[in-house]
Amino acid sequence: MRDEDLVAVGEFDNEIAAQAAISLLSENNIVAQMDDEGGAFDLGIGELGAIRLIVVRSNLERAKALLADLQVAQAETCPAWTCRCGEEVDEGFFACWSCGDEYEPA
Ligand SMILES: [Zn+2]
Repeated sequence: MRDEDLVAVGEFDNEIAAQAAISLLSENNIVAQMDDEGGAFDLGIGELGAIRLIVVRSNLERAKALLADLQVAQAETCPAWTCRCGEEVDEGFFACWSCGDEYEPA
């Protein structure tokens, strides 16, 4: 095992959730990418339809911790909401994916 190896760090039900995770990681200087090569990194955790994120092994532990925080934050959550820019934002996202505005309870 080398530090540059790509390893799966988590799975997401949809691309929006995966993108949110990628941007969170990139804010922390971790480059993550979607593994769309189904089966190329078969660690036995893949499921049809899920989007897997991969990072270099040296970032794995930190990325996992960040994603765990993200999931907790989403569990504590907000409902789906409509931003003042008019875009609909999915449940669990506190910032508008379009303009970056923050969720404000109505
Ligand atoms: Zn917005």
